[in-house]
Amino acid sequence: MNKRIKELINKYSNLVVEYRRDIHKHPELSRMETRTAALVADVLEGLNIKTLLNVGGTGVVGILEGNSNNRVIALRADMDALPIQEKTGLPFSSVNEGVMHACGHDMHTAILLGCAHVLSELKEQINGTVKFVFQPAEEDNPTGGAPGMIKEGVLENPKVDAIVSLHVWPKLETGYAGIKAGPMTASSDRIFITIKGKSSHGSAPEEGIDAVVIAANVISALQTIVSRNIGPLESSVISIGKLNGGYRYNIIADRIDMEGTVRNLDPKIRNSMPERIEKLVKGITEAMGGGYEFKYVKGYPPTVNEKNLTKIVYSAMRKVLNEKAVIPERASLGGEDFAFFSEKLPSAYIWLGCRPSGLSVEETPPLHNNRFNPDEKALTIGMEILISTVFEYLSG
Ligand SMILES: [Zn+2]
Ligand SMILES: [Zn+2]
Repeated sequence: MNKRIKELINKYSNLVVEYRRDIHKHPELSRMETRTAALVADVLEGLNIKTLLNVGGTGVVGILEGNSNNRVIALRADMDALPIQEKTGLPFSSVNEGVMHACGHDMHTAILLGCAHVLSELKEQINGTVKFVFQPAEEDNPTGGAPGMIKEGVLENPKVDAIVSLHVWPKLETGYAGIKAGPMTASSDRIFITIKGKSSHGSAPEEGIDAVVIAANVISALQTIVSRNIGPLESSVISIGKLNGGYRYNIIADRIDMEGTVRNLDPKIRNSMPERIEKLVKGITEAMGGGYEFKYVKGYPPTVNEKNLTKIVYSAMRKVLNEKAVIPERASLGGEDFAFFSEKLPSAYIWLGCRPSGLSVEETPPLHNNRFNPDEKALTIGMEILISTVFEYLSG
């Protein structure tokens, strides 16, 4: 079987490179992925895979039924590009001014199309159903594209039991891939705090309520959440990045506006944040005679890999990559909207090495860089990992 998979991957490897270059040349911003979605739908329909269009915006879903109605595994790719002017100099560079596939979603979409080709030829051997999920708007934080697809039923009819996705990862050399159980990416939330006081002359602070002094205390106290309320081995960040207020050197300020970011890997800790932060703001502000407004805006949750599914994926990865299937020590504090799936069902998110051998990490343009240029050799490796995962999962 593994030999047959490899043969089929070889058969489609050139086509997958073509898909990737075509998508790369015609990148589309979040929620505008109409050309990409049409290309995807064309391929799926051409393979006689049941295809659903416009799921949660420009999302496309393919349903491939195997030889039984055993379990359902979904494979997910994101399709959107970024508002970046490409500087790679590649012959298939973006023809869309100021738009670039700088996060590798062109690779993800091409890999998943390749999987559709191979798996549709192996239909009779698939002991269950494979759902191909092509989602829009991964880069559109805080909303994202996944919630819209979930709302419009991508996880139902047939009900999906597990979902797997991968992301090209320039820190890892081509040929390697990484996965671990637990968090892979962090939640990324925003806070807005307004401190309200009362103005007076700077020489007579007793006649006013100083919003600057209250704000100073609030900012210091916020740091104690990470240092005193959260275990030292957990990862959590609260940063106030913006502070605005005051009129003049000798006027007591009656209002300070602050904004900050809150990042966490543990959903439980993350969910405790709004209350914990507001309690501190409220207590300090009231004790000092002022008032406050507080808003906590949730962005993407942390992407958390489920233990059992991760084991299955890792075992599939070992079979494909041997010792080059690695378990990363740390999560990334970046955000990823696959997290919305990981909140709903057993999920696994893979980092796929795409750094050309011979280049150091420092020499390799990172994700979201205008020279980002993933190694196309990663395309077939990504396909093999996902296809092996499908068989490993459905045989269990
Ligand atoms: Zn990105
Ligand atoms: Zn991305």
